[in-house]
Amino acid sequence: MSHRPNRLYLSSDALVANWRALDRLSGAAACGAAVKADGYGLGARAVVERLLGAGCRDLFVATWAEAERLAPLAGEAGASLVVLHGLREEDLPALAALPRVRPVLSTAAQVARWRTVAVAGQACDVMVDTGMNRLGVSAEEIAAGLLDGLVIDTLMSHLACADEPGATMNEAQRARFAALAGRSAARRMSLANSAGITLGSGYHFDLTRPGLALYGGVPVPALAGAICPVATIAAEVLQCRMVRAGETVGYNATWRADADTQVAIVNLGYADGYRRALSNRGCAFVGDAPMPVIGRVSMDLVALDATAAAVREGDWVRFDDDLAHVAAASGVSQYELLTGLGQRFDRYWS
Ligand SMILES: *Cc1c(COP(=O)(O)O)cnc(C)c1O
Repeated sequence: MSHRPNRLYLSSDALVANWRALDRLSGAAACGAAVKADGYGLGARAVVERLLGAGCRDLFVATWAEAERLAPLAGEAGASLVVLHGLREEDLPALAALPRVRPVLSTAAQVARWRTVAVAGQACDVMVDTGMNRLGVSAEEIAAGLLDGLVIDTLMSHLACADEPGATMNEAQRARFAALAGRSAARRMSLANSAGITLGSGYHFDLTRPGLALYGGVPVPALAGAICPVATIAAEVLQCRMVRAGETVGYNATWRADADTQVAIVNLGYADGYRRALSNRGCAFVGDAPMPVIGRVSMDLVALDATAAAVREGDWVRFDDDLAHVAAASGVSQYELLTGLGQRFDRYWS
């Protein structure tokens, strides 16, 4: 098989250390893992193998297609695998094939559908909306008996503003959710995502559901010291050139050389998920020497100012792996930076 001219280096130690840190920060609550969107772009199978090894026993995906790929791994470990987007009519064959995977029911129609297919004792999860107005049944529906008689493992809700620690909505959602304790047969309650874990023990309930921070994202400063990068992009230098003073680089000539400048062209572009918003803003490194992105990021190529690093054709450079930093430079959210990572990298787990 041919080797590609770009790579994603993925650190098992960092992933596991991040989960352990979030588990510690979750206090007495169990710590699960959101592994939807192919493990936020890193590769769900590889992520799940490592998290199961670390002791994680609650996995969350968005769809049944995602669950189908992970169910054997979760099953062998005796871990919960949960589908956040519920149970459509079209999902019934998948449920029949994967009876241990739990849907998160979020509408009255889904609850009714579940009642027709669940076997005695089969557990579901339920999402209740506490103010985000996304997925979930209402507290009023629960009070009116919607969930009566169901076997429920986890009752969950989701915070709209967890990454804004001062937002008054956090406490309002927490209080509405806490008021549902004992109002259903749910064995556990779960509210917090990555950022929610930092809001305090009142937000932990029985189970937390971090995603972003597992993969090196830092949604709130409170997590900065606890979380380390997991994924690092590296790309090969395809050509080096001297750009003369006054000449320009790349599409639309958005960068112009003040002085004669050594430039390296590397194999990475927006089709790999290296966002065009990083044009004239991103940075790569060789050792500690910075190589700023100059000009527009192309589909498959990016130009770097090689003044500080004597790179040659065939050398490899690595790109800034501080997600919070790259997000601030580009205006692209850490979530999009991760989940946009394309399929053209050779992936190396260490
Ligand atoms: C994606 C998701 C999470 C994880 O959120 P992060 O912000 O990535 O930690 C938790 N709960 C639900 C319902 C989600 O959809």
